[in-house]
Amino acid sequence: MEKLAINGGSPVRTQKIFYGRQWVDEKDVEAVSKVLTGDLITCGPKVEEMERTLEKYTGAKHAVAVSNGTAALHCACIAAGVGPGDEVITTPITFAASANCALYCGATPVFADINPETYAIDPDSIRSHITDRTKAIVAVDFTGQAVQIDEIRQICDEYNLIFIEDAAHSIATKYKGKQVGSLADMTCFSFHPVKTVTGGEGGAILTNDDELYKKLVLAHTHGITRDEELMEYAPHEGPWCYEQISLGYNYRLTDFQAALIISQMSKLDAFAERRKEIVKRYDEAFADMPEIIEQKEIPESDTCRHLYIIRLNLEKLSCTRREFFDAMSAENVQCQVHYVPVYWFPYYQHLGYTKGLCPNAEKVYSEIMSIPLYPKLSDADVEDVIHAVKKVVENYRK
Ligand SMILES: *Cc1c(COP(=O)(O)O)cnc(C)c1O
Repeated sequence: MEKLAINGGSPVRTQKIFYGRQWVDEKDVEAVSKVLTGDLITCGPKVEEMERTLEKYTGAKHAVAVSNGTAALHCACIAAGVGPGDEVITTPITFAASANCALYCGATPVFADINPETYAIDPDSIRSHITDRTKAIVAVDFTGQAVQIDEIRQICDEYNLIFIEDAAHSIATKYKGKQVGSLADMTCFSFHPVKTVTGGEGGAILTNDDELYKKLVLAHTHGITRDEELMEYAPHEGPWCYEQISLGYNYRLTDFQAALIISQMSKLDAFAERRKEIVKRYDEAFADMPEIIEQKEIPESDTCRHLYIIRLNLEKLSCTRREFFDAMSAENVQCQVHYVPVYWFPYYQHLGYTKGLCPNAEKVYSEIMSIPLYPKLSDADVEDVIHAVKKVVENYRK
């Protein structure tokens, strides 16, 4: 048996790799510098081009580009009419923004539990948390798998709720053959560098609904409009006039970020293919290891995976999750854990949320870690990750 690096052996790799990373090439750099040396670096044509690109890619009727995925979620909640006294149901196994967007609107996030095999929000648990104050559901396509869209749609129709899909992980995923972005009432993307497509920062909201679209446009630019039809006091003194008709924010994206996102979108299918290849290789490598539990597929989802999670079968290992994580790190494979249940954070605990709310989520959280997954990983890198997992498992096998 190979001696673990954490115990003084030599590491699987000399150079550390991380769980996620962007892939920006010369073409991307050119696209950005062209905008930077041009006339409009914000409020220009690239933002609109990016919106049209996303509409074309997803099949959604409207796209609104915003400064980041969190802003996308906030705008979606505003457009949904979420306000004080309302409740918004989401999952605890997500980035904090999926729940914070409800708090921004003065509403209360309510955490539904996850399916212990797919780790996605469980429609039955959603049902059990509905009250007459429930206004919206923020369902997260965790790791890139589309949530159970049909079941959640059904619940939203039954109770007259707005379905917001947090698709920060799932651009390029299809559900029953349809592209994510065209499925929920509003779908939110993030273009943070660990996500599948990046603009450095960036986000977008997709919708097929004309009314929601108008609200999204206002929300992301101060509530200000130049649209005569929306203006209250038209006709005006002159062409310099615009009106603020609601309270919005400055959540605009710059044109050079939009240019980067457009350039990245042209490579999305290649990125997705490479991600799928790596996932397939990991699946094969871990299939016959009882110490590693693989995430179960949602069959309707044709998934472009953002994260690859291994779940430790701790009954078959003599280590803790922390020891496994540290051993991987010593092999120079830097894992991450996605995610600490949101309501465990001090801010949420001080609001009165208590541990134990979502038992499945808490159990899954205690056993998982994400191993490196991004298109720029070489085949040799992928084999190093597999080697490291196997080496650590062998050392801790009971
Ligand atoms: C990254 C992420 C966000 C937030 O996106 P930002 O662009 O970083 O603001 C929201 N939800 C999930 C699930 C994410 O992974």
